[in-house]
Amino acid sequence: MIKAQIPEIKALLSTPKNIVIVPHKNPDGDAIGSTLGLCHYLKSYNHNAVVIAPNDYPDFLKWLPGEDLVLKFESQKDQSKILIDKADIIFTLDFNAFHRAGEQMAAVLEASNTTKIMIDHHQQPDNYAKYTYSDVSMSSTCEMVYNFIEMLGGTNHIDPTIATCLYLGIMTDTGSFRFPSTTSRTHEVIGNLINKGANNAQIHNNIYDTNSYSRLQLLGRALQNLKVIPELRTAYITISQEELDEFNFKKGDTEGFVNYALSLKGILFAAIFIENHQDNIIKMSLRSKGEFSVNEFSRSHFNGGGHTNAAGGRSETDMSSTIDKFISILPQYKQELSQK
Ligand code: 5GP
Ligand code: MN
Repeated sequence: MIKAQIPEIKALLSTPKNIVIVPHKNPDGDAIGSTLGLCHYLKSYNHNAVVIAPNDYPDFLKWLPGEDLVLKFESQKDQSKILIDKADIIFTLDFNAFHRAGEQMAAVLEASNTTKIMIDHHQQPDNYAKYTYSDVSMSSTCEMVYNFIEMLGGTNHIDPTIATCLYLGIMTDTGSFRFPSTTSRTHEVIGNLINKGANNAQIHNNIYDTNSYSRLQLLGRALQNLKVIPELRTAYITISQEELDEFNFKKGDTEGFVNYALSLKGILFAAIFIENHQDNIIKMSLRSKGEFSVNEFSRSHFNGGGHTNAAGGRSETDMSSTIDKFISILPQYKQELSQK
């Protein structure tokens, strides 16, 4: 547990260090919010801190303060490798295993002997970091970064910029404070962040009210493609590469679509299957309500994982055989999917 190690980490951070902070591949709001929030915090103590994301992220995150300074490993490999090489500390945030940083960046992180600190809320974390702050009960990595700052005694350094970054990740990972992972402590942290200058209405607006016309049209198509298996309380959506092209798909456009399937009355398990010709895979997002663990489901059948109620996965076969496989597996879970 990290609490006992805080004095050591404090000592480590007592003089300016070269620090690299890494989120997972295809970073979401929590990944970018937590890495940038921590980066701004460390910079306020004169550390030489930088965020290196494995690859690019959606435009709806591109207004966050300091986001323009985030390096992308995929397109800035040489510069990224130099920074990783001379880092005194590497923070890995919002992921639990090196491979989540993508194959190439994972290899570089794995080869580095630098002191690593993991802050993460995903299940079954790997044991690669000298200091691991892992708590699967947490709403978000951003809430954990707030706790980390509090444990370090640094909340007086939280300015409106840091507050904005952390607010954003808590908001996106909790579905705007409605998932069961949202606790009274989450609201307490959110309240503190508003007091520190996070403009909650503005942040919500920047994330959720910037739809393009084509994204809404794509959503319309996705909803038309929705299929329901009532006896197994399951619903799923498919989107083909042709459909993505037809509606001028941009990174992030399908974010949240799977929640519409989960919002159907009586549905406990929802999935979206998105064809990706470039990587030659079907990308899956899985969501559930209650006990049914999509983390276990994805780990067992679709090379992924995540949390009990939200996980990702992938399939290397085409859409129709992926769906066939999905449908053929489901009856194994009939008992869990029949719960009240
Ligand atoms: P999404 O469906 O939004 O891509 O992912 C849902 C959640 O599962 C997120 O917290 C994401 O970080 C996590 N996740 C997605 N794919 C994987 C994976 O392959 N392995 C693990 N461990 N977590 C994943
Ligand atoms: Mn997260």
